[in-house]
Amino acid sequence: MTSEESKRGGAANSNGSFGKAERVGKEVASHPPSLDDSLVGDLRAFLIDEDHLHTYDDLTKVNPVTPTTVLKCLQARYHAQVFYTHAGCTLVALNPFQPIPDLYSLDVMREYHNAPQPQESKPHIFIVAEEAYRNVQGQLEPVNQSLVVSGESGAGKTWTSRCLMKYYATSQDTVDHIEKRVLDSNPIMEAFGNACTLRNHNSSRFGKYIQLQLDRSQFLVGASVQTYLLEKTRVACQPANERNFHIFYQMMTGASGEQRKEWKMSHGQRFNWLPKAAKTLEEDCFQETVEAMSHLGINSEKQAEIFRILAGILQLGNIHFDAPLNESEPCTLEGQSKEYLQGAAGLLCVPAVELQACLAVRTLMAGKQSILKPCSRSECGVRRDCLAKVLYAHLFEWLTMFINNSICADNSTWCNFIGLLDVYGFECFQMNNLEQLCINYANEKLQQHFVAHYLRAQQEEYVLEGLEWSFVRYQDNQSCLDLIEGNPTGVFPLLNEECRLNRASDAGKFRVRLEKELSGRGNISWDKFSKEPHFTVAHYAGRVSYQIEGMMEKNKDPVPPEIIALLQGSGNPLLCQVFGDQEAENSATRGLSKVVTVVAKFKNSLESLMKILHSTTPHYTRCIKPNPDCKPLTFHKKEVIMQLEACGIVETIHISAAGFPIRIPFSGFIQRYGLISGSSQIKQLVHNLEAGDNDLLRSAVEAIVSTALGRRSIGPMFRVESESCASLVH
Ligand code: ADP
Ligand code: MG
Repeated sequence: MTSEESKRGGAANSNGSFGKAERVGKEVASHPPSLDDSLVGDLRAFLIDEDHLHTYDDLTKVNPVTPTTVLKCLQARYHAQVFYTHAGCTLVALNPFQPIPDLYSLDVMREYHNAPQPQESKPHIFIVAEEAYRNVQGQLEPVNQSLVVSGESGAGKTWTSRCLMKYYATSQDTVDHIEKRVLDSNPIMEAFGNACTLRNHNSSRFGKYIQLQLDRSQFLVGASVQTYLLEKTRVACQPANERNFHIFYQMMTGASGEQRKEWKMSHGQRFNWLPKAAKTLEEDCFQETVEAMSHLGINSEKQAEIFRILAGILQLGNIHFDAPLNESEPCTLEGQSKEYLQGAAGLLCVPAVELQACLAVRTLMAGKQSILKPCSRSECGVRRDCLAKVLYAHLFEWLTMFINNSICADNSTWCNFIGLLDVYGFECFQMNNLEQLCINYANEKLQQHFVAHYLRAQQEEYVLEGLEWSFVRYQDNQSCLDLIEGNPTGVFPLLNEECRLNRASDAGKFRVRLEKELSGRGNISWDKFSKEPHFTVAHYAGRVSYQIEGMMEKNKDPVPPEIIALLQGSGNPLLCQVFGDQEAENSATRGLSKVVTVVAKFKNSLESLMKILHSTTPHYTRCIKPNPDCKPLTFHKKEVIMQLEACGIVETIHISAAGFPIRIPFSGFIQRYGLISGSSQIKQLVHNLEAGDNDLLRSAVEAIVSTALGRRSIGPMFRVESESCASLVH
């Protein structure tokens, strides 16, 4: 199967004539169905077979395609326990919220792996896996692949990525068990990067792009992981009824008596940073995490260093400062806080006095002279939280680096990759800040990639090829991206500029500036009467209000130099290593223009990711969360339809259904079907494809087609429609 052939289209939709598909395209253009229309629409008018809705394994078969018909079809399939459905080029995955026996078994994997035409089997995530796997070989040369898994929190992205990784790791049996090591990276990254939230008990609090590296024989020989924007604030501040990262609970549940003593975690010990929200299964996995660490080569000494740092963080969370009697004195520690400070210092291997000074006193530079200035009580708290966050973030970074060193293949051994992208879905809470702006910006970028790569590319290709085509209207989100990233007056550049000025953050003033620069734009609005300064962005997936208070501090993400200096002197070798080469900079003395903001870093890493995605053949899986309570067998129409709308699934189906379902470049067509022609010239071409120019190839295709039709020897009808492609219509 070639990559072009395997692009799914609406082949099965067509009733044997090209005319039908074309008509559907025109209907869409003249009357795009709206959500309201469809919800109140007259269901009796549907041409779909209502009794057999669950049998529609490609949504392009549904006629007419409206949000309601698509929804009904998915609902029927969900209740029939069928969780995967094609939507043209996209796979829709409904989260069953319960284990489905045998859905992902080894036998099922083998079935898809060995199927001559996997896409003709029942829809499954393994079809996506197998198509990508076969596409890597490419038609004439290898093509890297990307599997983009999207959806809102709890929709099943991480589960799906894990299934994909297992599929590739299981489809071979190599000698050095690299595939086991690649899989072992999952429990480690999830223990340190996932947490129980209101929307998902195992929510990934970071984005991940993993490249599975394949050698010339397409064996998995290694992998590399890139992570994005870990939500480090969670270490020191957990939203109500949510939890800290799993690893802390795993330690609390799984530690041995000796470890408990060393980590100062006696039974019944309460930690401020470990809220007791609903218990999750993940917290029982300490042993699994430790085994995965050992398997990846993190020896017991290193593990001890890691766990001591984590235990030290928990101690930090229990430290409280009291305001001093005399304002010129530093804040003081009373009773238990003193013990926790000593506990933290011991576990982090730093002198307790220095730790206390570093939290309670700031060093200011006046020329070459340093002046000590006591911090206020709230400043001490901010510095304590900052210490915890910087410790955790560096630890996570070190782990990612270690995992990469352990599983990454030597450059000379791999030649292609399949990339898996599992990033946080679109977020909209009551309070949104810089984190949500970054996450939603990333989702806008991915949506644009999808639109550009599939919807727009396909339509533009039809126009270029001179094919008759009516445009399907789709939502282009470029204006929203311009609003956020556009230089020099997007939200990000303005925010960066504000941070570089290094004046005291003033949310009110920044809002006025934003309004002055951006008020003419369609995607942004303001509620002038609201007490809290904020702005609202109309994203492709919905409107989100962002509070401005705190945004600048978050963007600067300053780490007091005293904290870095303290950690550099730690007796814990791991801390020395991760902070060793970090300059203890003093923001008062360094060139302010050098400040690398959170937004700038994130934008850079996202740009690199998008470059990689653009250089690969993408495959999209849209995970859908059938209900907000994560309950099995529960399908909430309103929530599902909102998700379908948000990812433009209906437009995708329209285009797939109305387009040319299968496209094969001339060369591939000749290679595959050339032998049915008796012409020696064509046979010659098959052997020496590069030699053919486009006109020659085109006439060869025409000759093959007329031979095939003349002899009536094969079923499908061929239409040579375009300048460089033969389209094939069943
Ligand atoms: P996301 O990464 O999109 O936030 P997850 O992949 O963590 O969501 O899925 C949330 C939960 O839903 C999982 O922990 C699991 O319990 C359940 N789940 C997701 N996909 C499946 C599936 N295919 N089969 C069974 N349960 C699933
Ligand atoms: Mg996840």
